[in-house]
Amino acid sequence: MKKIVIAIDGFSSCGKSTMAKSLARNVGYLYFDSGAMYRAVALFCIEEGLVDDNGINTEVLRSRMDGIKITFEADPVTKNSITFLNGRNVEKEIRSLQVSRIVSPVAAIDFVRTNLIEQQREMGKAKGIVMDGRDIGTTVFPDAEMKIFVTASAEVRAQRRYDEIIARGDEADYNEILENVQQRDHIDQTREVSPLRKADDALLLDNSNMTREEQEQWLIEQFNKITKEC
Ligand code: C5P
Repeated sequence: MKKIVIAIDGFSSCGKSTMAKSLARNVGYLYFDSGAMYRAVALFCIEEGLVDDNGINTEVLRSRMDGIKITFEADPVTKNSITFLNGRNVEKEIRSLQVSRIVSPVAAIDFVRTNLIEQQREMGKAKGIVMDGRDIGTTVFPDAEMKIFVTASAEVRAQRRYDEIIARGDEADYNEILENVQQRDHIDQTREVSPLRKADDALLLDNSNMTREEQEQWLIEQFNKITKEC
């Protein structure tokens, strides 16, 4: 069967990565988390002291961009994808609220996007991939054979994120998370470079009231339909 590119875009904390991972596993494709790449650049900015009250020091970041290498490896036990920043496993650090707070401004910087988009296109060259993000179906792979745009209410998404953090054993404040979700939505939708929007040919999936199983089933049905037509 011909391999295709599957692009999954949508708002933050919609469960995109969970759905992308399970779809990739079910159809035997590779999964790439483009958000993790923006998060890794945000972590680099924090660790290198490029963030202060005035924002991000873009001039220094621009000069250091070529020294930022982001790679993925599969966890030998769980098979989940692990993000590496210059060879160091940063999977846990990139999910912190500190990183979440500055990731959207970092992702709005034009040269950061140009650099990461180039790397993402490279990852998709051989097809047979599922990539999730904000601009995968619109900018990174406008010719992707299967495009999904996921949405759910901000409150449902904040609750999911809250439950995830609590389940990890960390502390969380629901209102702080809701505020972060809404702020990121705003920045992602209004930024100048590839703003978050549904591609005209993307299938819309509102999962506010869907179980994980229903969603999985729906995705497989779409995949089967599309690959039959290819
Ligand atoms: O998907 P995740 O929430 O981990 O992404 C973190 C942030 O990275 C998003 O809020 C968004 O600002 C940015 N992002 C992006 N384009 C992508 C993926 C993520 O701008 N393709």
